[in-house]
This record gives sequence, C-alpha cells and structure tokens, in this order.
Amino acid sequence: MPTPARDGLLLVGDAAGYVDAITGEGVGLAVSKVTTLAKLLRPALERPGGQVTLAELSPFLGRARQEERAHVELTRALLWLRRAPWLVERVISALAADPELFRHFLSANQGSVSPWAIPLPSSLGLLRHLVWRSARQHGADQLGYGG
Ligand SMILES: Cc1cc2nc3c(=O)[nH]c(=O)nc-3n(C[C@H](O)[C@H](O)[C@H](O)COP(=O)(O)OP(=O)(O)OC[C@H]3O[C@@H](n4cnc5c(N)ncnc54)[C@H](O)[C@@H]3O)c2cc1C
Repeated sequence: MPTPARDGLLLVGDAAGYVDAITGEGVGLAVSKVTTLAKLLRPALERPGGQVTLAELSPFLGRARQEERAHVELTRALLWLRRAPWLVERVISALAADPELFRHFLSANQGSVSPWAIPLPSSLGLLRHLVWRSARQHGADQLGYGG
C-alpha cells in the first residue's frame, strides 16, 4: 500500500487504504486516527501559513500503522480462513462455545489487543475444536441451526 501522504496532503479513512469489507470498524479507525493526528500535528497546524511537510507527518504514519496492526492481522486471518470452509465451521463452533474467545476477537478487531494474544483457556478450547471436533457437532447446535 503506498504511503497515503505527501507534503501538504494526508489521506485518512477509506481513502487512505482501508479495504476491509468484512469486519467493519472503518468509522472507529478513521476517528481514532484523526484524534491521534490532531494531537501530533497541533504545533505544525498552528504555525501561521506553514505547510505541513511529509517529514512532520511521518510520526503520525508510524502511529497509524501501529494502531491498525491488530485489525489488519485479523482481517488477513479471516481472508485466509475463507479458503478452508471446514476450518471456518470449526472456528465458529469454538466461538459459539466460548464467549471469552468471541470477546477476545471483538477486542482485537477494535485494535485493543493482538488477535494472537488469546487467553490460555480460550486457546486450549480453540485448539480442541480445531483438532478434535467436527464442524456440525457443536457449531450448528450452539447457533440454533439444528442439523
Ligand atoms: C456495508 C458497509 C457496512 C459497514 N459497516 C461498518 C460498521 O458497522 N462500523 C464501522 O465502523 N464501519 C463500517 N463500514 C465502513 C465505514 O462505512 C467506512 O470505513 C467509513 O465510512 C469511512 O469514512 P470516510 O470518511 O473515510 O469515507 P466515506 O464515508 O466513504 O466518505 C467519503 C465521502 O466523499 C464523498 N466523495 C467521493 N468522491 C467525491 C468527489 N469526487 N467529490 C466530492 N465528494 C466525494 C463521498 O460521497 C462520501 O460522502 C461499513 C462499510 C460498508 C460499505
């Protein structure tokens, strides 16, 4: 993804390259970036008549990448997962069985934790579903789809 900034120009939100149509959170990410931006760039923005340079925008770009890392990793993982429908069903089954696990991935999607920092009991539960449980066994039951 090219850097969404030049001297005197910065793109945020979808225009900066937000492309996730799966998990949402585009509004939240855009607002959090603008909040960070306002703090970091205040001195430059208050300078009379001065243009904000790319060098002045650099710290913001670094922070923005850091803030969106968890979200990007989760989106990549979801895109990878959709190649293996049998695995998707097992993950859904694990999420249905463990609200903590579901909460963890929601937090990761909002950028507050890394998707990979799954609490130990939930990791073990997820592993158990991935390795031993068949998809229909629990996912369908827990979600009330019958079958
Ligand atoms: C179906 C769907 C569901 C979503 N659900 C969620 C959700 O639940 N939670 C969440 O946080 N995010 C969600 N998103 C993502 C979220 O909507 C976007 O990330 C967010 O709106 C991006 O804001 P933005 O200001 O960058 O862009 P936009 O909201 O797209 O604003 C860009 C504006 O620029 C205007 N524009 C475009 N070209 C021109 C032009 N040449 N001249 C003048 N104006 C122009 C457009 O008309 C638009 O009004 C969803 C997106 C979709 C598509």
